[in-house]
This record gives sequence, C-alpha cells and structure tokens, in this order.
Amino acid sequence: MPSVWLKVKRFSLFANINTIKIDKEDYHPGGLFFLFIDFYNPSDSADAVKKRSETARSAYLGGGTILNSLEYEKEVPEEAQAQTLINLSKLSLNKVELTPTELVIGSGVTLQELLEHPDVFPAIKEAAALVVNRNIRNIATVGGNVASGLFSPSVNVASMFLAMDAELELETEKGRKIHSLAKYYGCDPHKAEKCLILSVRIPRSAADMAYALRRYVRTQNDISILLAYALVSGSAEKIEKLALVMGGCSARPMRLAEIEEKLTGQPLPNRDELVEMVRPLIHPLDDLRGSAEFKTEVGAQIAAWTVYKALGKL
Ligand SMILES: Cc1cc2nc3c(=O)[nH]c(=O)nc-3n(C[C@H](O)[C@H](O)[C@H](O)COP(=O)(O)OP(=O)(O)OC[C@H]3O[C@@H](n4cnc5c(N)ncnc54)[C@H](O)[C@@H]3O)c2cc1C
Repeated sequence: MPSVWLKVKRFSLFANINTIKIDKEDYHPGGLFFLFIDFYNPSDSADAVKKRSETARSAYLGGGTILNSLEYEKEVPEEAQAQTLINLSKLSLNKVELTPTELVIGSGVTLQELLEHPDVFPAIKEAAALVVNRNIRNIATVGGNVASGLFSPSVNVASMFLAMDAELELETEKGRKIHSLAKYYGCDPHKAEKCLILSVRIPRSAADMAYALRRYVRTQNDISILLAYALVSGSAEKIEKLALVMGGCSARPMRLAEIEEKLTGQPLPNRDELVEMVRPLIHPLDDLRGSAEFKTEVGAQIAAWTVYKALGKL
C-alpha cells in the first residue's frame, strides 16, 4: 500500500521518530497530491550526508519553502522529486557568530532571523528584505537559499554572499571542507547538492564596502525576476575593488568578473558605456515574465545603476 508524507514541518510532535509514514487511503488531501514517503531525523551532520548519498530520491529539508511547494511538484520531473526528506532542524545549525575575521552564519538560520540579528551586516539584511514576504522569510533558511541557487538564477541572499566572497563549510562524504561559494556554484549541481551546507562564512572586510542593491519584480510580493548587487571600495575617481553580481541572467547567480577586472584601478566610466559593457555578458531566459531582449536591457540598466549608486553618484 503506497504511503505519503504530508507537510512534514507540521508534525513536530513526531520529532523523535526517525521515519514517519501516512497511509494514502487514510488521508484525503482535497485534490492535492503529496509526494514524500520518508522523513529521516539524522543523529548528526555526517549521518545526514550518509543518508543523502545512499538514498536515491532524497533531499535535505531546511524550511521546506521550496520542497513543500506546488512549484516543486510542477517543475521538477517526477523521477527526480525527493521522496525521502532528511530533517536538518535538530542539527544545531542556527547560530550566528561574529569573530575577529569573519561572520559565520549557520545554514539553519532563517531569513527573518538574518534581518533581525544585530551582528549581521546591513547589506545582507537588505538582501534578505528583498525576499518576498515575512511568511516565507520566517521559514526559509540560509542553507536552502544557497543550495537552491544551484538550480535557480535568482536567489536574493545567496547572491549577496557571492558578492561578499563568502565561503561555505560543507559536510561531504569525505568529511568537512571549506569551499568558496563561487566554486560551489561552478560545480556540477547534481554533485554539489549532495553536500550538506553547515555554515556560510563571510570576511569581515565585506562590511566595509559601500553597496547598492536593485531588483526587477512584477509586484512587491514576487520573486525577483532580475537582481543586481554592487559592492565597491574606493571612489568614482579610482575604483579600488568592485564586486558585481547579477541574478536572473544565467543558470545561477553570476559575478560579472570581466567588468570587475576592467574597472579595478580605473575611474567610473560614463553610465551608458557601463550599460554597453554589461549587455553582452548577461543571458536571461525568454519566458512569460519578459522576453530575453527586454530582460537584457533592464538587467544592464540596473547593473550600471547599482555601481553608480554604491559610489554615491546617484
Ligand atoms: C512563494 C515563494 C516565494 C519565494 N520568494 C523568494 C524570494 O523572493 N527570494 C528568494 O531568494 N527565494 C524565494 N523563494 C525560494 C525559497 O523560499 C528560498 O530560496 C529559501 O531560502 C529556501 O530555503 P528553505 O530552507 O525553505 O529550502 P528547502 O525548501 O528546505 O530546500 C530547498 C533546497 O535546498 C536544499 N537544502 C536545504 N538546506 C540545505 C543545506 N543546509 N545544505 C544543503 N542543501 C540544503 C534542499 O535539499 C532543497 O534541494 C520563494 C519561495 C516561495 C515558495
């Protein structure tokens, strides 16, 4: 008899049970079909990674805002949808720590907690505030935001981490590792998704850079269609360091490394010139939220806007 697992986060009273099953016949979901069969509570992070690697259709469960969504059911091919969820909520991954050299954010910290924590850098808070609404931010986790960037071009918080040269502490089958976020996004996403993100580590120096953020959305309560984040040090006369990240313009959030290199040590170019420089580097998808041509134009404009804004020129 097939079994289904429904809305795992609501069944916290079963938290000490390793696997929960609900008989399909006993539950009438009013037309909705729920696909999770097993709910696993790992004893520690190594156990979570072991379970993930030996269970074909499994996924780590952060807040579940994606895994528990109808979009997941509609957009992920059925044969790739997770049936076993590995619950991360008991692994104590929800701490924020500011050390003399870095800000360490546990992967289980929610996006709303990021917004409210006194040690979190203002640029990260502004990025978290762009995530649609408080209901989602209350549940969604930092680890889920970073990991979903492997398959999604527009993740608000992880894109800011990318601009800040963040590193990830990962639990892998071969033990713990520190990897740059840029390298994580450069890996085969199907391999990378098996690593468990324990924390995000951001150099303290990132907090000293001036920044600006801009997104393009249809309504205030919508996932960003395009986003541009700029972090700069120096001045409009001489840019010392620039990090320019775009979302919605490629398979994953991307750094516009070519522009960063070109502008380092240089004066800020004319704004139209900057738009011209960005345009050929971005390749948004053509979809019902806008044609590729339209999104390329908006993307190039908001990228140039953020650099100007961060340098105090707007
Ligand atoms: C209505 C709605 C609106 C949204 N709006 C936005 C938005 O404006 N901006 C935005 O950026 N996102 C948005 N999202 C996407 C999503 O909410 C966020 O990306 C969120 O941070 C995902 O976190 P989660 O903990 O809920 O992930 P989950 O759903 O729990 O997991 C998502 C993926 O990440 C993996 N994962 C989770 N934790 C870890 C970990 N520690 N290590 C490795 N892999 C892990 C899971 O296995 C899964 O593959 C929205 C989602 C919905 C449903």
